[in-house]
Amino acid sequence: MAVALDIPIVPIAQSKLKGLSLENLPFGKHFTDHMLEADYVDGEWTSVTIRPYEALKLEPSVAALHYGQAIFEGIKAYKDQQARPFIFRPHDNFVRFNISAERMQMPTIPASIFMDGMLQLVKLDQDWIPAFPDHSLYIRPFMFSSDEMIGVRPSESYKFMIILSPTGPYYSAPMRIWVEEKYVRAVSGGVGYAKAAGNYGGAMYATAQAKLKGYDQVLWTDPYEHKYVQECGTMNVFFIIGNKAITPGLEEGTILEGVTRMSAMTLLEEMGLKVEERKLGMDEVLAAYKSGELREVFGTGTAATVSLIKELCYKEEVLHFDINKWEVAPALKGKLAAIREGKIADTHGWMVPVV
Ligand SMILES: *Cc1c(COP(=O)(O)O)cnc(C)c1O
Repeated sequence: MAVALDIPIVPIAQSKLKGLSLENLPFGKHFTDHMLEADYVDGEWTSVTIRPYEALKLEPSVAALHYGQAIFEGIKAYKDQQARPFIFRPHDNFVRFNISAERMQMPTIPASIFMDGMLQLVKLDQDWIPAFPDHSLYIRPFMFSSDEMIGVRPSESYKFMIILSPTGPYYSAPMRIWVEEKYVRAVSGGVGYAKAAGNYGGAMYATAQAKLKGYDQVLWTDPYEHKYVQECGTMNVFFIIGNKAITPGLEEGTILEGVTRMSAMTLLEEMGLKVEERKLGMDEVLAAYKSGELREVFGTGTAATVSLIKELCYKEEVLHFDINKWEVAPALKGKLAAIREGKIADTHGWMVPVV
């Protein structure tokens, strides 16, 4: 994919990379030399610029801080075995970003800014992509309403940005999960399918309550009966029951359609499992656990890729899993990592070269 748009670059005085090791950096704390910025004013995207990463100057009245029109994406760039830079499925995140924008009454963004801008930015800062196993450059595009006005209405101006953060390895310990029956993440008709900042804010209290009880995360259930599983924290969730891989369907608009979820569905099918996207009730999960058919449970998402669930607490029952015996989730995780690091052929065209 050639970079079509030549975005002006404000140069840095000196790279922060000198003297910094990219090995074992914590997630989301270090940022590269540059960032991309664009403003939506009078119905058009303007002033697309790549400039040194630095603080923004914002009025206290900026609309996003008050009414929450704010959306984001999470994407990863990798180096292959020849140290060539690639980005994993960025087009899917671009499409999803505009779905989120529409739901939040925000302007959509053209590929010439989101895609070409991302490619140009990552190309410029490609020395920041760690070349160690399980490391990557995390790409964070985001948009927020930027009117300086506290009246309640959709903002007329917006800011779009992309920042980059070297990270890895993202170790996610096997999780103990609380099946949540009081608080909800998403309802049909709501914004659950959008990657809206407020979905994260709204989830934090329930997660903190689960942590007080000794759990790592919540498994969200439907808002009406608290029976059908939705997502695990901010990850999509898969249950391996017999030879089936079951994940909640998208038809109610309560599930964020993860790019890792899509990739997992493809790879699980190739591994010989029958993938089902449908409603899955906790009664079915419990029955499969009792009959010995429930083999594995895991979450999927860009940050951790595949996170194993070793325990599920539902009502009075605790479901325990011996994750050392698992085959599907480790194989899936290994395959995804191998594709991303260029160790096996990318037969799906998921890796987009940064050229
Ligand atoms: C981002 C996100 C996911 C995972 O999506 P990926 O594209 O795989 O990173 C799942 N659930 C929620 C709620 C999310 O915000």
